[in-house]
Order: sequence, then C-alpha cells, then structure tokens
Amino acid sequence: MNIHEYQAKQIFAKYGVPTPKGIMVESVPAAVKAAEELGGPVWVVKAQIHAGGRGLGGGVKLAKSLEEVRALSEEILGMTLVTHQTDAAGKLVQKLYIEDGADIKAEYYLSVVLDRKLEMPSIVASTEGGMNIEDVAENTPEKIIKVPVDPAIGFQGFHGRELAFGLGITDKAEQKNIINFAKKLFKVYTENDAEMIEINPLIRNGNGEFLALDGKMGFDNSALGRHPDIEAMRDLSEEDADEVEAAKYGLSYVALDGEIGCMVNGAGLAMGTMDTINHMGGTPANFLDVGGSANAETVAKGFEIILRNPNVKAIFVNIFGGIVRCDRIANGIIEATKLTDVNVPVIVRLDGTNAPEASEILKKANIANLIVGDDLADGAAKAVAAAKGN
Ligand code: GDP
Ligand code: MN
Repeated sequence: MNIHEYQAKQIFAKYGVPTPKGIMVESVPAAVKAAEELGGPVWVVKAQIHAGGRGLGGGVKLAKSLEEVRALSEEILGMTLVTHQTDAAGKLVQKLYIEDGADIKAEYYLSVVLDRKLEMPSIVASTEGGMNIEDVAENTPEKIIKVPVDPAIGFQGFHGRELAFGLGITDKAEQKNIINFAKKLFKVYTENDAEMIEINPLIRNGNGEFLALDGKMGFDNSALGRHPDIEAMRDLSEEDADEVEAAKYGLSYVALDGEIGCMVNGAGLAMGTMDTINHMGGTPANFLDVGGSANAETVAKGFEIILRNPNVKAIFVNIFGGIVRCDRIANGIIEATKLTDVNVPVIVRLDGTNAPEASEILKKANIANLIVGDDLADGAAKAVAAAKGN
C-alpha cells in the first residue's frame, strides 16, 4: 500500500525527521488560508497523487504571493496530471499540499529499500538529488552509494559515517545532522514495516540542516494489521476500482492489456498460465488469482470483473484442485455461469484431486461456450484459438 506525500511527511514528523511545514487542503479558499497560516513569503503548491514526476508534469509550483497561491491552486486542483509514473489517462488531482518554500543549498537523493540479495534493508543515497534515480543508476552508477543495515544490530554510528563520507559531507555539524536524519528515517522504516521510503530531493539549507522536501512511502500489506493508523491513510480513490472490489472477495486482480482473461489459483500458476498463453501466441488480459476460494460466488465475481474489460475475447480458467477438489470447482464454474452472463468462450482446465470426474461434469453440463482443456498446453491453445475466433 502507498500513501500520499503529505501523509509520509506526517509520519516523518512524528519521528523527528525534518520536513518543511505544510498543510493539506482540498479547495482553493482553504489553500489560501493555509498559505496565510504558514506565513510565507514563498510557498510551494503540490499536487497530491500516488505518483512521482509531478514537478515535470506541472503539479508542483512555486508561489511568491497569496495571489499566486490562489491562481496556482486553481490551476492544479482538479487537473488531470500525467507524469512518467501515471498511465496515459493520468490522475485527477483532488488534494493539494501547501508548503513553506525551502532555502535550498544542495539537493540529495535518499531512500531506504529492501535489498533482496543481501536480505536486509539498505540505505541508498546520491548527491544527484532531484534527478530521476533510475537514470543516475544507468548513466553514473558510481554516484550512488548503498549502506546495508542489518536490522539485528540496527542503525549504528559507522553506518551514518559511511553515508556522510559517501555523500562528500565534510562539515562536522552537517555530518551530525545527516547522520541523525538517517538514523531517524531508518527507525521510521523498521517500526512501520515499510517496504520503501524515498526522499527525492533531500535538501540541505543555509543552516546546514537537512530536510525531506519530498516523501514517498510504501508498506508491506501483510503487516498492515499491526498498523491501523497507517491503514487508515489508505486513499481508495488512488487505487484501481476493479482491484479494490476484487480484494473484497479475496481475489487478487491486476488488469493487463491482452485479450485472454485468466482465472487461476496461486501466483505461481498465474505466471505459468500467462507464459503459456504467450507461448501459444496469445496475450493475457489480466491476472486473477482466486486463491483458496474457488467457489461459485468468487468464480462468478471473477468472471464479472474480467468481463468489464471490453478487450477480453476468451477466458481461460486454469485451476489446480488440491485441498479444494476439482469436481467441486467444476460445479462452482457451472453455477457461476448461471450467476453472471458470460458472453465469451470459457476454456477450463482442472487438474489435481478428482480431475477426471470434473472433466465429466463439465462435459455433461453441455453449456454452450464452455470448452474443456485436457492439460495446460491444450487449454492455452484452445483459449488462444477461441480468442482469435477459431
Ligand atoms: P516529484 O516531481 O513528484 O518528485 O515532486 P517533488 O516533491 O520532488 O517536487 C518537484 C521539484 O520541485 C523538486 O525536485 C524541487 O526541485 C522543487 N521543489 C519542491 N519543493 C520546493 C521548495 O520548497 N523550494 C523550491 N525552490 N523548489 C522546490
Ligand atoms: Mn521528488
């Protein structure tokens, strides 16, 4: 789960990680009032959407008077912001963050991410702040430093010194400030079960202090049960409506741009199914994992969500019956075709416990448009053929 910049900064503030002062607003009058309260003389008007690259897209602008705050808020609030991190349709801006303008002497990049190879969190930093970090990694990898921190020992002085020296910070007071900043940020990361924190740019001001000018946080969904305060920050308007609805039924759904709807159980089987469809010359329209809940109701809901995508020309159901027996899944699928109107061919391949019985049940049901696949390759080939109208 991701949160907004202003929410990340609220969490930072709780841990004493310095940020500029700011106020989140949802209307133009509230934006002007917030600017008055902050005092100025310079403000930044920032679109709050769950995507970066807002600056380049016109969603972050500097205001030098209350009149400018009003004009820029009018311009940005309600705009559809397209950045390199949104899709082509962009995101509607419904919230603004009005922030004190900072005195920027230097810009850095700082993040805490999980290093899967080292199996521990790593602090990643660069002097190339404000730039797209993927480009920095590609063109000048020597400008990126990584400081892995074993969570068993936590953030120690030597981690901090490695970071400060790596960033070329030589002033003693500044060294102390950056080390303190990183130490607190690491605490934010571990105590909240974050998956990543990214600050781009982190800035140094004229007093040698470091401030998070931007803030992005992502969390481990499996740990949200331990953090009701963070779960409460969830903004469903920033998430895909179909994915949110699917999750309510215990389904993991991700929309893709092909033409064969896929319904499977288990993420590994989903990957294998999509690869096989590609191998047979087709393209998957989605990823839908019904998990352990392959019953009539969830299958019907799955069909319904898959069929909202007008590109879907066929549905391939590829389910492995282990704990749930295949004959029960087959009956569930037949029931589901009665619960929801399925107007494309459905190819079903079931394997595992009671697979032959399941195959019999499906064939006997004699439902138009329901095709039985003998194995994965056969099912995928039939789905590809059906999607092509053969
Ligand atoms: P992003 O484009 O979505 O990553 O949004 P950021 O929060 O990083 O803002 C984009 C850019 O606006 C930053 O890289 C800064 O250069 C600039 N910016 C943000 N806040 C301030 C500020 O207080 N003062 C000035 N001068 N520039 C700012
Ligand atoms: Mn940024």
